[in-house]
Amino acid sequence: MQIPTILLPKPQNLFHHRAARSRELALTHASLTGYLNLMAELADGQHSLSEKLPGTPLPDFYTEPPLDISSWQRDSVWRDALRLIVKCFGPKDAPLATILKRIRQAQDNELETWADWLLAGELESLEPGLAPFAAAALQVYWTSLASRLNADDIKQPETTYLCPVCGSLPVAGVLQTGGSIQGLRYLCCGLCATEWNRPRIHCVHCGSSKGVAYFGIEGMGEVVKAEACADCKTYIKLMDREKEAGLDPVADDLASLALDILMVEEGYQRLGFNLLLITG
Ligand SMILES: [Zn+2]
Ligand SMILES: [Zn+2]
Repeated sequence: MQIPTILLPKPQNLFHHRAARSRELALTHASLTGYLNLMAELADGQHSLSEKLPGTPLPDFYTEPPLDISSWQRDSVWRDALRLIVKCFGPKDAPLATILKRIRQAQDNELETWADWLLAGELESLEPGLAPFAAAALQVYWTSLASRLNADDIKQPETTYLCPVCGSLPVAGVLQTGGSIQGLRYLCCGLCATEWNRPRIHCVHCGSSKGVAYFGIEGMGEVVKAEACADCKTYIKLMDREKEAGLDPVADDLASLALDILMVEEGYQRLGFNLLLITG
């Protein structure tokens, strides 16, 4: 049986599912309840928007990668998406109300600068609290485009840990279940939600298989582990659908922040990041 190298996203249920999973995780992660519920609300906004987003033009021919974050000419649609997402939020407490007002009042060129920073991974350049909202709009836009590509025409990039559709870093790896992909590892793009197959046990970053070790946190269950490489000192989270069929790489990553803290203490650097993480 042929194994698909790339699984394109399905925005019809991606954000809806993420909202539900975030709410579920909020119930069992007391210290993150407020944050995860807010992320659920954001995912609700993404879901309702992804259904309304106009079908913006796709590339005539596929570059490598076809929707490259560093060169793709963004359509103004993503800014409309951001302004609409903000409208989905009802009255809020003071800090959040300030952030939402800031976004509502921002000019187009400001929003574009925020997008440039986010896509370059410079989350700390943005004013505190803005990143998840701007990133949510960019996710809706890129996911909508990615979902309409033809997977057979997309080539695996030379740098195999980058998303073959948009060139972003992965947010996590997932061990899949079902059919021909049972037990295989796919990396999940933090922006366009494309998943691409990478062999297990080998370091995602440098390819070494010698010093790969797995870290977990006692009491946090077996669903999320950190796969760490002794050679290049990087790690990526590995999530197991066999243990939790309903996991969502973005929501489960946010809910396992404690594991990131442990890995930093152990001297490892994370490969990739979560665009929805509030910095500062
Ligand atoms: Zn991508
Ligand atoms: Zn490595």
